Amino acid sequence: MRVSRRAEQIAPSATLAVGSRAAEMRRGGVDVVSFGQGEPDFDTPEPVRNRAKQALDEGWTRYAQPSVGLPAAREAACEKLRRHGGLRYQPDQVLMTCGAKEAVYLALAAIINPGDEVLLPVPYWVSFPEQIALCGGVTVRIGGDESNDFKIRPAELAAAIMPATRALIFNSPSNPGGFTYSRDEVAALAAVLRDRDVLVIADEIYDRLTYGGAEFASFAAAGPEWPQRTLIVNATSKSHAMTGWRVGYVAGPKPWVDAMARIQSHTTSGPCTFNQLAVARALTEADDAVEPMRAEFERRARHLHARLTRLRDVTCVRPTGAFYCFPNVSRTYARLGVSDSVTFAERVLTDAHVALVPGAAFGSDAHVRLSFACAVDVIDKGLDRLERLLGRA
Ligand code: PMP
Repeated sequence: MRVSRRAEQIAPSATLAVGSRAAEMRRGGVDVVSFGQGEPDFDTPEPVRNRAKQALDEGWTRYAQPSVGLPAAREAACEKLRRHGGLRYQPDQVLMTCGAKEAVYLALAAIINPGDEVLLPVPYWVSFPEQIALCGGVTVRIGGDESNDFKIRPAELAAAIMPATRALIFNSPSNPGGFTYSRDEVAALAAVLRDRDVLVIADEIYDRLTYGGAEFASFAAAGPEWPQRTLIVNATSKSHAMTGWRVGYVAGPKPWVDAMARIQSHTTSGPCTFNQLAVARALTEADDAVEPMRAEFERRARHLHARLTRLRDVTCVRPTGAFYCFPNVSRTYARLGVSDSVTFAERVLTDAHVALVPGAAFGSDAHVRLSFACAVDVIDKGLDRLERLLGRA
């Protein structure tokens, strides 16, 4: 059966592939410990759930009017951006989307012409290069220096900018690296872009999940001109444990947001109406629900990092955000008889019954990703098994 060239060039999601292999083993009776999942293991806060139930009873079951998002949701996004970033957006600069994933896709679809280059710091979230390709863009991978905690340096950014460069995708805190850029580091990158015609898609979905004193800094706050050159992407999926609700939002200059809305109006028609009202509640009245989850993630981050760095031949950048560790396991490849992150992950799943995601999917074959969106006793069980397979340092 022939499929389109567009479909042919898209790789299936590696995160989902590991999950389904692990699920298959579980069905066969194997007790698999999974570090694959990229979603909080907490319940959506009760007031947020109640708002959705109430919205259903109120009859919010029709198309959203306007389709760009319910006024309450767009206003709530503006209030959130003001409260947590000191940024001033008007509701007509906000588009409600089907998760942050649709927001990134629409941003690329609205600004990328075929052949335009998009700068993508390594390691990156799996969907970025695939979405760039779907929009006809060319991914230019930059950075990836572990000795700088994977953060790109201003000189690396400057060297990558070409006449065809249209945008930089900036994801801090990062999936899968777990690192967070400081205000000064963001300012230094913004200074490189100041006189270049390059806009920034800032994926800030992990902004509320920072650890060890790291503080989130928005690219749009790098200076007065940056709100005009940045598309902020966010969602309550990670901050409020709402991955299944499929609501996100984007904020930025109105002409770009309007262009995204036009594309959305012919594709998804936007996110579920009653969920938008629940997200509005999460953004305005459920701030206090985030801190206990963040604190628990911080505890797990410390614990998983400490245990990973005790494994023989394994090093790991300390996570300061999101909920992932991205250890370098390449020094174990020779003695395990594996050649890359995919065969490493296969070996670990088969021999130790631990599911991890190969780093190749995120742009680095020397690494694997472990999510710490799981309880500490699950972390211990999985790391005991890894220790038996790999040995202790
Ligand atoms: N951006 C990043 C960096 C992510 O890690 C994820 C989720 N894995 C998303 C976007 C997608 O978020 P959502 O579920 O809101 O679509």
